[in-house]
Amino acid sequence: MPKDFLKGTADRYDVVVIGSGLGGLTAANILARNGLSVLLLEQHYKLGGLATWFKRPGGHIFDISLHGFPYGMVKSCRRYWSKEIADSIVQLEGVRFDNPMFSLTTTFDRNDFTRLLTTDFGIAQENVDRFFDSARSMNFYDDQTKTTRELFDEYFPGREDVIRLLMEPITYANGSTLEDPALTYGIVFSNFMSKGVFVFQGGTDKLVKSMEKELVASGVDVRINCDVEKINVGSGGIESVVVNGKTINTSAVVSNANLRSTIFDLVGEDKFDRSFVDEAKEVRLNNSSTQVYMALGNDDTVPRETGDLLFSSTAERFQTDLLLDRNITSRTFSFYYPDTRPEGKGRTLIVSSTNANYSDWVGMSKEEYEASKHELVETTLDALEKYVPNSRERVVHAEAATPVTFEHYTKHISGASFGTKFEGLMVSRALPDQIRGLYHAGSCGIIMSGWLGTINYGVIVANDVINQLSKMPATSPVASN
Ligand SMILES: Cc1cc2nc3c(=O)[nH]c(=O)nc-3n(C[C@H](O)[C@H](O)[C@H](O)COP(=O)(O)OP(=O)(O)OC[C@H]3O[C@@H](n4cnc5c(N)ncnc54)[C@H](O)[C@@H]3O)c2cc1C
Repeated sequence: MPKDFLKGTADRYDVVVIGSGLGGLTAANILARNGLSVLLLEQHYKLGGLATWFKRPGGHIFDISLHGFPYGMVKSCRRYWSKEIADSIVQLEGVRFDNPMFSLTTTFDRNDFTRLLTTDFGIAQENVDRFFDSARSMNFYDDQTKTTRELFDEYFPGREDVIRLLMEPITYANGSTLEDPALTYGIVFSNFMSKGVFVFQGGTDKLVKSMEKELVASGVDVRINCDVEKINVGSGGIESVVVNGKTINTSAVVSNANLRSTIFDLVGEDKFDRSFVDEAKEVRLNNSSTQVYMALGNDDTVPRETGDLLFSSTAERFQTDLLLDRNITSRTFSFYYPDTRPEGKGRTLIVSSTNANYSDWVGMSKEEYEASKHELVETTLDALEKYVPNSRERVVHAEAATPVTFEHYTKHISGASFGTKFEGLMVSRALPDQIRGLYHAGSCGIIMSGWLGTINYGVIVANDVINQLSKMPATSPVASN
């Protein structure tokens, strides 16, 4: 008999959270801390969504999306998770750029970028200050018609090298392009510039296990291998979800699944206004990624000066469409030194990431797909040689993930790494106006994606749900703690 992953669940919960990405986990934790009964359903056998890891023989543990996030994570983790989690966040000191226009190492904060822009790039201090202040003052309610390209042209006209320095990491960090609204750039860039780039010491496995411990302590009913098939809606709003063939009643759902799957697959477009459906259909997905995971031999490592995060490119000029090309010219290498996992086996791992289009990887025969992955590994080893000499002999394990891999594990349409483009945020926020009790808290809109963005979005949405349920006498009252 197949295992019943729903054994012992109640018939009804105040809130059902679909998906255990960082947004879903955070929303569930806050809701339960506020006294609501919460069921968290994850279709995969592991929690974390894209914030995940995998193990390979030899003591190698690879992180999928632990490359860097802004300092704001410390505050968010302390407030909405635990001090222990917040205290494990550490800064990456060596952020490196190496491309035909420039090679440099930076701590990736406003002070150091000001130094680089004024001394190495020869930009007037006043211009640099005005640019930083302008980016810092941007917020969600600003003018959305100005593009990032227009923002750069205003402060650094004709300076493609400066644009590359300012934009390449952000394109990597959330897939945004020069044609996206300037505010999506300004908000994310300023978040990083406040103090630099940070990661979680101990690895994603330690983080997610700590989060699971917190969830259980908060009283969340956590279930893995539970694939939600349907969200049922009645005339009064949300009624139930169907998961692994079982119906569970609830009056509020927070979906952490992809925004488009939530609307079109889990609920169904007939449940929404026509104009809303039209708007939702226009929401573009963000791009996906390829990654190559490489492990050095047991006692082998690389000098620290190699950097922690290395934006390498052989392209003469910076073009966002080139970053997505199958013919890869830009790779971001993350170096995980033995102190990434102080209690681990002392391994040095390297992950190469590149933004990618799903269409370049889907629809191949099994043989073609395997051959393409093999080629990706081989060309990546060639590119790594410049930074890790003799890498081909030193790398003892290498394998690749593609947009198809990301789609397979997270059910994100087209393997989208950062959910949807900016317009997705308005659609996500409008869901409860369409259907009472329906919420979405997952990567969308560039701003609300990435580790910090999704955690913060989980907080915002959890508070919306708490407000709604506190106005509904028919459901369990919200505790006052
Ligand atoms: C290669 C890569 C590198 C990245 N690097 C970084 C980085 O360095 N820094 C950073 O800040 N961000 C990074 N990101 C982005 C970041 O990982 C994501 O934005 C963030 O983790 C997404 O969180 P989320 O809450 O939107 O949920 P997701 O992680 O997208 O998880 C959604 C969850 O919902 C589950 N689900 C879907 N449908 C169902 C269903 N029907 N029933 C039950 N469960 C369901 C999925 O299985 C999944 O667990 C990276 C992403 C990728 C792909």
